[in-house]
Amino acid sequence: MPNHYDVIIIGTGAGGGTLLHRLAPSGKRILVLERGDYVPREKANWDSRAVNVEAKYHTKEVWHDKDGKPLHPHTNYYVGGNTKFYGAALFRLRERDFGEIRHHGGLSPAWPITYRDLEPYYTKAEHLYEVHGNRGEDPTEPCASGNYLFPAVSHEPRIQQLSDDLARQGLTPFHVPLGIRLDEKDSRTSKCIRCNTCDGFPCLVHAKSDAQTICVDPALRYPNVTMLTNSYVTRLGTSASGREVTSVHVRRVAGPKGPATQGAVGPVLSDGPDDVYSADIVVVSCGAINSAALLLRSANDRHPRGLGNCSDVVGRHYMGHINSVLMALSKCPNPTVFQKTLGVNDFYFGSKDFEYPMGHISFVGKLDAIALSAGAPPLTPGITLDLMARHSLDFWLTSEDLPDPDNRVTLDREGNIELRYTPNNEAGHKRLIKTLEHALQQQSACADHGHACHQGLFARSLFVGQRIPLAGVAHQNGTIRFGHDPKTSAIDPMCKAHDIDNLYVVDGSFFPSSGAVNPALTIMANALRVGDHLLERMN
Ligand SMILES: Cc1cc2nc3c(=O)[nH]c(=O)nc-3n(C[C@H](O)[C@H](O)[C@H](O)COP(=O)(O)OP(=O)(O)OC[C@H]3O[C@@H](n4cnc5c(N)ncnc54)[C@H](O)[C@@H]3O)c2cc1C
Ligand code: SF4
Repeated sequence: MPNHYDVIIIGTGAGGGTLLHRLAPSGKRILVLERGDYVPREKANWDSRAVNVEAKYHTKEVWHDKDGKPLHPHTNYYVGGNTKFYGAALFRLRERDFGEIRHHGGLSPAWPITYRDLEPYYTKAEHLYEVHGNRGEDPTEPCASGNYLFPAVSHEPRIQQLSDDLARQGLTPFHVPLGIRLDEKDSRTSKCIRCNTCDGFPCLVHAKSDAQTICVDPALRYPNVTMLTNSYVTRLGTSASGREVTSVHVRRVAGPKGPATQGAVGPVLSDGPDDVYSADIVVVSCGAINSAALLLRSANDRHPRGLGNCSDVVGRHYMGHINSVLMALSKCPNPTVFQKTLGVNDFYFGSKDFEYPMGHISFVGKLDAIALSAGAPPLTPGITLDLMARHSLDFWLTSEDLPDPDNRVTLDREGNIELRYTPNNEAGHKRLIKTLEHALQQQSACADHGHACHQGLFARSLFVGQRIPLAGVAHQNGTIRFGHDPKTSAIDPMCKAHDIDNLYVVDGSFFPSSGAVNPALTIMANALRVGDHLLERMN
């Protein structure tokens, strides 16, 4: 059967791409289906207006929120998935994140596996994605079986000054582990040029460790691997018993400007009938929102609530972290080019004044006036966006949102995505913002401007904060949670559907709780773990 494979992987992001890398050398016939195309290599890759204002690379799909309001999701459909655009901050979850943790807003549930189960795969993922970091600096970092292969990316002077100030207060700032292929000892041959258009932008020189360059492209050199791009999986079909996925239905994405064009509402799909493929093992890895949507769309007589959804949890427990950008403005300019090098986790699990977890502090890529015009922060009269951007330290704060069954992905009658979400557990996040503001106000006097630096630009507001809205689905996870109990989880601890023998899920949807660090390394490590299991199963 020409359309039958050993494995079909749907989606090429952090989960699907990494799994492909693990399975490719096995000689097994693998078909990879990706709805997007390659990110075109063009000057616009590094153009703030194209990326931040025109949202050139975002999908043009329109989803809806719980009130029926249109939602323009900040997500990207390309080979490599969202890792093409990520900031490449590659963190392990903390060891305690795998257990139950009491938060101000309720309980963060335990995972069905422990940190020790995932630890060897974290090390492998860090090596695969060429993470640059310094072990032992981050006070909450869990123990590791291997060192980073590359030293941490250094701070530029303004960030080093901040790091020194925070350390003087007794905090323990650290170098963020980063998947950028920068060789600071030899800038002439370094792949990465340490530019200001990394976080949110695709890398024009292919120096970011994303799933396309690190995993998919090398895997395609194996003759047993085939990838079809512009291939949108519409649904999965099962055998009469419902115990196996027997068909994967694929519609070619086609539009007026050629195969990669996406329409105003959803993907412009070709008119022809779906192509149908099958495989011994089918792995869904479309991202937490699209994977849930695919399983829900695939409902049939045996699975009336959606595939693998006897538990009724598919689509539920959507999490995306509580994320804010906090711009700290001062008279002192911030000429930093690559800003994302410093992190603070001292308040991750709380502080002596607040006994609940607060979260993680690091940086976004350096904001410019064009990016600010798109994000529209509350303006301070008399200060231009350009002045703000030149004087701001642009912090990224992440706190854990808790898995609420009513925060969920559903489909409308036409099959379009609805994302219903009510924020929760916000007290820790608010506390984190206040705690950071307080710490920044304690900074020592600046050599050039004395304390004027710390009294606000022109003595006006010192901090400009903005919560990332629901459309900012960058950290989406949780919608197809794994667990031991088929009544409360959709997939088992090895990420196989409880009620289907050959269906696996390896994107961010398996998280039963989300911790407060960026999710990609955990998705990658888990994909390597599931990869080992699949190799064992197939052999
Ligand atoms: C701007 C930005 C910055 C970020 N920065 C960081 C960071 O610094 N650190 C970090 O850890 N994380 C970061 N993230 C998050 C990180 O990118 C994601 O956690 C990660 O990519 C998720 O991996 P995934 O495999 O779940 O999904 P994705 O990477 O989204 O991959 C899903 C893939 O499935 C494809 N697909 C979807 N539906 C279908 C379908 N029906 N048929 C076929 N294919 C389909 C998509 O096109 C895509 O290629 C960032 C994200 C963004 C957007
Ligand atoms: S900082 Fe390096 S990895 Fe990031 S976009 Fe620039 S060149 Fe690429």
